Amino acid sequence: MTVHVATLGFPRIGAHRELKKALESFWAGNSSEADLHQTAAQLRAENWKRQKEQGADILPSNDFSFYDHVLDTSTLVGAVPEIYGKSEGTVSLDTYFAMARGRQTKGAEDHKTCDCGGHHHHEGDVPAAEMTKWFDTNYHYLVPEFTRDQTFHLASTKILDEYREAKKQGFNTRPVLLGPVSFLLLGKSREESFNRLDLLGNLLPVYAEVLRKLHEEGAEWVQIDEPILVLDLDNAARNALKQAYQSLTSSVPTIKLMLTTYFGELGDNLDTALSLPVHGLHVDLVRAPHQLDTLINKAHPELVLSLGVIDGRNIWRADLSALLDRLEKVAPHRNLILAPSCSLIHTPIDVERETILDPEVKSWLSFALQKIEELATLAKALNKGRDAVRAELNKADEAVKSRKTSSRIHNKTVKERAAQKDASLTQRQSAFPIRQKAQEEALNLPLFPTTTIGSFPQTKEVRQARARHAKKEISTAEYDAFLEKETANAIAWQEEVGLDVLVHGEFERNDMVQYFGEQLSGFAFTKHAWVQSYGSRYVRPPIIYGDVARPKPMTLDWWKYAQSCTKKPLKGMLTGPVTILNWSFVRDDQPRSETCRQIAFAIRDEVLDLEKEGCPVIQIDEAALREGLPLRRKDWKHYLNWAVESFRVTASGVQDKTQIHTHMCYSEFNDIIEAIAAMDADVISIETARSKMELLEAFTHHRYPAEIGPGVYDIHSPRVPSVEEMVALLKAAEKKVERRQLWVNPDCGLKTRRWEEVRPAIANMVAAARQLRG
Ligand code: GLN
Ligand code: ZN
Repeated sequence: MTVHVATLGFPRIGAHRELKKALESFWAGNSSEADLHQTAAQLRAENWKRQKEQGADILPSNDFSFYDHVLDTSTLVGAVPEIYGKSEGTVSLDTYFAMARGRQTKGAEDHKTCDCGGHHHHEGDVPAAEMTKWFDTNYHYLVPEFTRDQTFHLASTKILDEYREAKKQGFNTRPVLLGPVSFLLLGKSREESFNRLDLLGNLLPVYAEVLRKLHEEGAEWVQIDEPILVLDLDNAARNALKQAYQSLTSSVPTIKLMLTTYFGELGDNLDTALSLPVHGLHVDLVRAPHQLDTLINKAHPELVLSLGVIDGRNIWRADLSALLDRLEKVAPHRNLILAPSCSLIHTPIDVERETILDPEVKSWLSFALQKIEELATLAKALNKGRDAVRAELNKADEAVKSRKTSSRIHNKTVKERAAQKDASLTQRQSAFPIRQKAQEEALNLPLFPTTTIGSFPQTKEVRQARARHAKKEISTAEYDAFLEKETANAIAWQEEVGLDVLVHGEFERNDMVQYFGEQLSGFAFTKHAWVQSYGSRYVRPPIIYGDVARPKPMTLDWWKYAQSCTKKPLKGMLTGPVTILNWSFVRDDQPRSETCRQIAFAIRDEVLDLEKEGCPVIQIDEAALREGLPLRRKDWKHYLNWAVESFRVTASGVQDKTQIHTHMCYSEFNDIIEAIAAMDADVISIETARSKMELLEAFTHHRYPAEIGPGVYDIHSPRVPSVEEMVALLKAAEKKVERRQLWVNPDCGLKTRRWEEVRPAIANMVAAARQLRG
């Protein structure tokens, strides 16, 4: 039996970010819909061709998307909320983008977000649909919205068009479709007390119609994604899966379905998956390598197994020889396809474009195109023997060997330090009540102290100066002088407006992770390795390849300069280890927890240096702590333990009187409140403005011991909140937590806002605090 190579989806964005440019030009009215379609068609053609050239023989179609594949699915089945207009026929591109980005009569504005991602509403006349993270990735999808009387109809021909388009180019593709149960479960409903799975009966006929039409066009297989199979499921969900696949197979018996799961193990859903009447099953063997054996034992011998052996979520070259050791035992007995663990949209496209990356580091990396090559090598070795691919295997072996020994990676001092388990490393000198007294004496703050989260508007001037400095159009001295002026102005304004604890404004930072990564050893940065975060927003995550050390202080000079401008306390501003980890590509040759601990020690040294210089208040942002939560509940505890422990490593070296703040840009704390409390920060600031303090529930219920700044200013909106509004919010907060615990601050950093909004909003915020004191 020949082993085949499949991909489950390829990056849509284009090697030169062509899609971003085409979309933004179209949105700005500078190009036509036809132009946009043309660019898209070129990208698809290029992608099919490249994947084939790299050695894939099963190619996906309908993996392309103008914005998001979940939105495409809503569009396919006509699930368009009423506010975007009645949808009887096909959904227009205009409606599609209205759902994606909102519709504004006065000039379009994209989602404004903080770094924590895209879950915030657009500011237009018609808001965009809600966005949220796609499982535990940094990709965001548009949440389908359902009503109790939801109907569905075939409302887009995209999947058929793209199948035909590929066929014309000589590729008989395997179209990709998000499965009906995942689609319903990933959605939400505004009305309560109705079960989205009740809509399955209405939805399945549309899926059947799509499958039938694809089959009529000549498709033999369809990849149907049910990633919810790696989550904790109840019986209702499992029954829905059975109902769905029995119904689809009996309606369209001729099409073969490749049921596709990724991002984890099937675990207790394995039997359900194996009971479904499908022709093939794809499993993630990177996150869950052990499930291969169970699968082989349990799966019907005719079931085609698609093995996700190459990591679709990370950028490391695989250990091909080790994989072959396992696969050679299975290949003779089963009908196998080799594939990436998941769609390749979570990886950058081509490592060959990174021409200035350190060659040794580069030799360890594999992006989307290289991953397909690795799969092709594996398949060839299985089909023709290892000798047929000797050179490729040698290269892979060398990379594995060099990562084991390279001095670029391994730093004995760092490893020894991180291995220390001394309890005092994670323990403040005294318990919170004692620290609170010491801090009261040191800081002498009023009740309801006011502060901000760190960043001030990144104006055009700031961004321009940074770009010009990067291009060497201005010298470092000129750039620094500019930043000093911005900082000094921001401090003068903060004094004037009456804030109690000031910040320097973060004008020197491009990004809260990159800024630190660039100054730490063990990190690499790429030039072209973009990955889609949402819509036309792409990110270039840092690559943590080696042991992490801090060669020298990273923020100290800026803090010293800023503090020299004022007598008020000025917060030191750091990004926490868990956030740095969760927003990077992390090395896979040691547990994530260990890498996190190394980062924690580096940040701890920064904290101690700040304290030594007299910094009275230090904020360690952990914006991404929650998003690192594992997909399965049973794994939460382990993650939270090491995440919290890492935070405590950074924060525990200081004296009682030094006040440690942390900040998190979300507010769902109910299920992790113990862990949040265990971080033992003196002050936590969180996002609460839009939920009207309801989200403080967690903090009352569990009697959070320390101080809290529930955001009173929704920084995702250009609106300037009034004094009365903020007073009302604070009064609501006072009902849930002690007034002595309360701080007054915005929801998040202000870098995406304009000064014209920030100045009056903060003035109102200070006035609100004063009113409460009085
Ligand atoms: N200190 C950062 C800022 O204000 C925090 C950003 C964040 O939490 N996403 O920008
Ligand atoms: Zn935030």
